[in-house]
Amino acid sequence: MASNDEQQPLHVLLFPFVAPGHLIPVADMAALFASHGVKCTILTTPANADVIRSAVDGANNAVCSTGAPEIDISTVPFPDVGSLAPGVESVVGISSEADRSRLLEAVRLLREPFDRFLADHRPDAVVADSFYPWTTDTAAEHGVPRLCFLGTSMFARACNASLLCSNTLELEGLPPDDPDAIVSLPGLPHRVTLRRGQVMDPRKNELEWNYGKLVNAADQRSYGEVFNSFAELEPGYAEHYRTALGRRVWLVGPVGHASDVLAARGGAGELSLEAERCLRWLDQKPDGSVVFISFGTLTRFTAVEQREVARGLQLSGRNFVWVMSESEAEPSQWMPEGFAELIDPREHGIIFWGWAPQRLILGHSAVGGFVTHCGWNSVLEAVSAGVPLVTWPRHGDQFYNEKLILEVLKIGVSVGSRFSATKVEVRSEVINGEKIAEGIDRVMGDDEEAEAVRKKAVDLRGKARSAIEKGGSSYDDLDQLITELMARRNSVSV
Ligand code: UDP
Repeated sequence: MASNDEQQPLHVLLFPFVAPGHLIPVADMAALFASHGVKCTILTTPANADVIRSAVDGANNAVCSTGAPEIDISTVPFPDVGSLAPGVESVVGISSEADRSRLLEAVRLLREPFDRFLADHRPDAVVADSFYPWTTDTAAEHGVPRLCFLGTSMFARACNASLLCSNTLELEGLPPDDPDAIVSLPGLPHRVTLRRGQVMDPRKNELEWNYGKLVNAADQRSYGEVFNSFAELEPGYAEHYRTALGRRVWLVGPVGHASDVLAARGGAGELSLEAERCLRWLDQKPDGSVVFISFGTLTRFTAVEQREVARGLQLSGRNFVWVMSESEAEPSQWMPEGFAELIDPREHGIIFWGWAPQRLILGHSAVGGFVTHCGWNSVLEAVSAGVPLVTWPRHGDQFYNEKLILEVLKIGVSVGSRFSATKVEVRSEVINGEKIAEGIDRVMGDDEEAEAVRKKAVDLRGKARSAIEKGGSSYDDLDQLITELMARRNSVSV
C-alpha cells in the first residue's frame, strides 16, 4: 500500500529575486509545475506578490479547476532597512547606488523567513533564485534540494561562467581602458567574442565581479538548475552544462507560453481599457506591419535617446506600438517635429504608457518586429510568437542573449549597442535614429536578409510550441525532474 507521503503531491517552494523579470517566469513556472500535479508555494514580499497575483489567480482558475493543486503565495514583510522609499521592495524603484546597496541588504535579511518556511513546511525541493546564493546552505541545512534559477539563458550563464573562471580579461593582456578591445570567451560550444565594455569587469566594478563569483560557486554546489528555455533554442548548451561544467540542468520552457496555453483553457483574463484599445488597434493593421518597442521593466532611456528612438520610428515609416514607463521624460523633452502627428490620432502608432500586455501584443499577427533590450523573458516571448528581433542590449546578460540571437539563432539584427551600463549609471552612448530605422527595415523589409530572418523566427516558434507539448523536450525534462524528486522524497522518508 502507498504510504501517506507517496499520496501527497510533491511540494516545491519557489523563491524569486525581487524584480519583475524574475517574478514573472517563476509565476509561470508554478503554473506549469501545478499542471504536472506539483503543489507550489511562492515566497515573496507584499509588493512583489502584487506583481504576480493576477497571473497566479488566473493559473489557479485555469489549472487547478482540473484538480491540480493550488498555487499559494506566502508573503513575508519586506525587511526594514530604513531609507528606501515606502513601497519600494524591488529593483524597479531603485535610482541610486545607495538605494541598490540598501535593497541588497534587505534582501539578505530574507534568509530568516526562508529558513523558517523550510523548518515549518518541509517542502520537497526549492527553486531559489541564483541571486540568493545563501539559499544553497540554508536548503542544505534542512536537507532540501536546492534548484537554482536565474531566469536567463543557458548561453548567457555559460558565457558568464567562462568569463569568471578563465581570467580571460587578464590573460589576453587586453588594454584595461579600451572598452572596444575584443574579449574571447574560451571553452564554449560556439566561438563567442564581445567587447570589453559589454562584459563584467573587475577593474570597473569589483563588487559586481565578486558577487558573480559567489553566485556561480553557490549554483555549482546546488542540486541542479532549471532553465526557462528549451533544448532546440540553445543547441549544445545543455550538454556543455552537463559535461564541461558538471552541472545538472532541466529545461522546462518557454514557461510563459506554457502558462498562456493553460490560461486560455480557463478563459481570457481581464485586460485594462488601454490594453484592449491597443489590441483592437492592432486588429486594424495588416499582418506583419507593426513594430513593437519595449525594453522590459528596468531599462530607462535618457531624453536624448528617446528622441532618437522617435526619429528612428519616423524614418522607418512603419506602424508602431512603443511602450513607455510613466517615470520616463515628458514628451516635450524628446518628441521630434512631426512625431505627434503619427500618434494623434493613432494613425501610425501608439505610445503605450504603463504596463502593456506584451505577450498578447507579440502574439498578434499585425506585429512583424520587436525592438528589444534582449531581456530573456522578452526574447522567449518573441521566440514563442515567431517575431524577429532588433537587438539593443543595455546591461549584463542582455549582451550574451544578443549573441545567441544574432550569431547562433540568426533571428534578429543589431542596432549596434557597444557598452553595458546599469540603470543607475550615466550612459553616454546614443544610438542614432538612422541605425534604429535600418535595424527595423532589416527585419521587416522585403529583401532576402529580412525574409531569411523572419523564416528562422517562424521555424523556431514551431519548435518552442512543440517543446512544451506532451512528448516535447521541455515536457519530458519537467516530467523527469518531478519523477526524480518524487523518488528522492520516497527514499528519504523510508
Ligand atoms: N512586461 C510586460 N509589460 C510591460 C513591460 C514588461 O508584460 O509593459 C513583461 C515582459 O513581457 C516580460 C517581463 O515583463 O515578461 C520583462 O522581462 P525581461 O526579462 O524581458 O526584462 P527585464 O525587465 O527583466 O529587464
